[in-house]
Amino acid sequence: MVIAGGGVLGTMHAVAARRRGFEVVQLEREAEARGASVRNFGLVWVSGRKAGPELALALRARELWSELGAQVPGLGFRAAGSLTLATGDAELALLKEAAALPDADRRGFELLDPAAVRAVNPALRGEFLGGLLCRLDAIVEPRQVLPALRGYLAGPGYEWRPGREVTEVAPNAVRDHTGAWHRCDLVILCPGAAHTGVAGRYLRGGPRGVPGGRPPVASPVRRVRLQMMQTAPMAERITTALADGDSLRYYPAYDLPGRSQLPPQAAAAERSRAQLLLVQRADGGLTIGDTHEYAEPFAFDLDEDAYDHLRARAEALLGAPLPRVQRRWAGVYSEVDPAVSGHALYHRAEVEPGVILVTGPGGRGMTCSPAIAEETFG
Ligand SMILES: Cc1cc2nc3c(=O)[nH]c(=O)nc-3n(C[C@H](O)[C@H](O)[C@H](O)COP(=O)(O)OP(=O)(O)OC[C@H]3O[C@@H](n4cnc5c(N)ncnc54)[C@H](O)[C@@H]3O)c2cc1C
Repeated sequence: MVIAGGGVLGTMHAVAARRRGFEVVQLEREAEARGASVRNFGLVWVSGRKAGPELALALRARELWSELGAQVPGLGFRAAGSLTLATGDAELALLKEAAALPDADRRGFELLDPAAVRAVNPALRGEFLGGLLCRLDAIVEPRQVLPALRGYLAGPGYEWRPGREVTEVAPNAVRDHTGAWHRCDLVILCPGAAHTGVAGRYLRGGPRGVPGGRPPVASPVRRVRLQMMQTAPMAERITTALADGDSLRYYPAYDLPGRSQLPPQAAAAERSRAQLLLVQRADGGLTIGDTHEYAEPFAFDLDEDAYDHLRARAEALLGAPLPRVQRRWAGVYSEVDPAVSGHALYHRAEVEPGVILVTGPGGRGMTCSPAIAEETFG
């Protein structure tokens, strides 16, 4: 098998393929993957998933991450759970509705009052009315996951070939930029958000938001850009991942009657479509985000208003100043466009005989990648 793309989707396909006895060659255009898979929170996020197929996919993926975590300590897998915190009555009412969902047990939901929140996560000394604990949410270390999985795969039957960009596709074969052909039983293309490269002709359409409006043939996928930051290490442990009430606006599990009662977002958050997600890294640093930009061309620079907002939210919940921000970055993911792809959770298509393209898992890609790879093999 030949896999194009060294992100988490490509690498999880390599894991699934090796388990099924395939010999695998994995090609990556960069010297090391630099896409969404190394820029994310490392959240294995079950809590906000829509009931039905999306929750089922995330739960299966959570099982697979847990198994892999036991076998590959370098992933930094931690069954830490998450807390989504309410700072107003409408947010708290919505958390109560979520805690009463018929599948609340499958998600490990429990509504906690402020004292119980602090018992679970003593670093939370700020102001809030309660929190929704999700025991099923987990954390991995995105900067370590890909090399750790490749270390796990290393040996006969697995070849990692960075610095090779796939430029041409043919039945059961790809050609890289050096002109070398790689022929095989099955090609899997996992190009992430590279919608105009070798996969472009199969994804049709063009970038959204360009002058002249939508492309004549709608693409099944769109791109989304997010801003992130990471602080210097914080000595105190933050025992769970954290989300603020703005996250209730975005995740489909919270599409409940109480959502319509949420007050308007803070202006800076509304402009950048921000929600606070916060994860403590293994070294103590705090990964904090995010924002959502849908219209292309994307900004090429980072907007400080969004960071000011996120920092203030985090400090209000922790009741303490954050450590100095050490790093800022933006990342872009590929997402199935709901206007075109309906309820699809990601995009998979056999684009040539023996060539399968898989991309578009959106903001659930790190979470769902092991289960998506499993589904490719049926
Ligand atoms: C800021 C941010 C935060 C996120 N947080 C989370 C989170 O906490 N939890 C979650 O579940 N999801 C999260 N996501 C989403 C998740 O990161 C992505 O859905 C997932 O990483 C996509 O993986 P991928 O392998 O498809 O893409 P990528 O990671 O982009 O990998 C694609 C790879 O293919 C390579 N490539 C492209 N074209 C070629 C070619 N022609 N030849 C060879 N190589 C090629 C690229 O160089 C790249 O390395 C987040 C995304 C972002 C941007």
